[in-house]
Amino acid sequence: MEPIEHIEQAQKIWWQFTQSGKAFGDLTEDDFDLNGLNLTEIKAHIQQYGRLLVDAHSDATGKDTILSATDTGCFYCLQLFKGQSGVDEQSLSYRYPLCDNCGVDGLVSLDFLPTDTDVREAFVKDMEDIWFESAQHGAGQLERQYSVERIRQYNA
Ligand SMILES: [Zn+2]
Repeated sequence: MEPIEHIEQAQKIWWQFTQSGKAFGDLTEDDFDLNGLNLTEIKAHIQQYGRLLVDAHSDATGKDTILSATDTGCFYCLQLFKGQSGVDEQSLSYRYPLCDNCGVDGLVSLDFLPTDTDVREAFVKDMEDIWFESAQHGAGQLERQYSVERIRQYNA
């Protein structure tokens, strides 16, 4: 996982994107409350951040990454952890170690993010939105523009 530049701005744009209720292709500059960015730049942030949310799931949740992480977070219960304190010791041999707080395999390494707590909390929440919320709320939720399917599509 590579760090991305301007992640706080990307998170703000992502939030406005999800609030707009629009499909990626239907967005206009008026959907965003930002200074000095045109739609092309806004969309580039959405794509970059969307890709990060998808890649974090495949790259940063595995055993090797979790057990060598300086910090982790759980995108199911939204807790942030120092060191290995979030890992359920019973699950150390699992491919995807379980969260010590909630027992779900929602741990992700946060080492590729800035240490700023706000950024990290927003990141695990955004991951919860696309990986758990859409699954829990059925087909209607899957239609939402930030569903995993759509993110893959516009990153293709
Ligand atoms: Zn958890």
